Amino acid sequence: MTDVIDGNAVAESVRDDLGGCIDTLAAAGVTPTLATVLMSDDPASETYVSMKQQDCEEVGIEARDIELDPDAPADRLFETIDDLNADPDVNGILVQMPVPDHVDDRRVLRRIDPMKDVDGFHPENVGRLVAGNARYKPCTPHGVQKVLAAADVETEGADAVVVGRSDIVGKPMANLLFQKAEGGNATVTVCHSRTADLAAKTGAADIVVAAAGVPEMIDGSMLSEGVTVIDVGINRVEADTEKGYELVGDVDFESAKAKAGAITPVPGGVGPMTRAMLLYNTVKAAGLQADVDVSLP
Ligand code: NDP
Repeated sequence: MTDVIDGNAVAESVRDDLGGCIDTLAAAGVTPTLATVLMSDDPASETYVSMKQQDCEEVGIEARDIELDPDAPADRLFETIDDLNADPDVNGILVQMPVPDHVDDRRVLRRIDPMKDVDGFHPENVGRLVAGNARYKPCTPHGVQKVLAAADVETEGADAVVVGRSDIVGKPMANLLFQKAEGGNATVTVCHSRTADLAAKTGAADIVVAAAGVPEMIDGSMLSEGVTVIDVGINRVEADTEKGYELVGDVDFESAKAKAGAITPVPGGVGPMTRAMLLYNTVKAAGLQADVDVSLP
């Protein structure tokens, strides 16, 4: 029987555990606070931000909603970040990407105080992750690590293949998997669009993490029996539905499930974990800034 991993259930248990940490912070007079900054009128970005705010409110994190005109000068965004950096009541800052073309997104990431960088994308936090001393692990790969642990998938000694090398998913994912630490100690191969014979790589893996953004590109013929398949991809494809599309992953679920020992679905796999780990990082940030030991799980 293939274990279809329920990302919603794992995310729920992460949120439950955070409840105790938030109580500890409350006892110390601290309400963890996340500021979201949206400089876009893209409906998808608006939806992502409102979901993040709703998640915060559900667990007792205060959400501050800042919206900037997408046509405003870049300096307006940088000044907003400076104000949030200086505000002692704000623990986490999230600038929803993508920002408009006239704003240099790397400058945005560098401008956020690394202590408040709950996405974990500031160069200081990236450096710490690579050095094996992470402060804030990026939410999606951290969520994948939690899912693997919840499904009792052993990473130590496993051959893991990460398909994708982006800064937000593939690179940090590979780093977390090979670190000499719990949830790591795997032997990691990172594949990308120039990889020769991807199927040979995925077919030899014990764990495949698919994060390429190509609908259903990995199917059962590219996998070995008993493999663990983590599908990070979220792709809109045209479909005969009310909305005119449906969401599919980077993995062809049915054929992969026939081979896999464990697999995450899309939706309901990694997506909810990404959202939960943002809450986790915000609580961690509040604890670090107030010097309160919140005993995060
Ligand atoms: P990017 O487009 O930034 O990166 C995609 C990576 O996949 C690149 O490294 C690219 O290679 C590689 N790639 C593309 N095509 C192929 C191919 N045919 N074979 C092998 N490698 C390929 O995407 P992201 O990392 O931002 O996101 C990846 C997917 O994950 C997307 O579907 C996205 O929507 C989803 N996502 C889901 C999240 C969640 O919470 N579940 C969170 C974040 C993202 P190269 O470097 O050579 O171009």
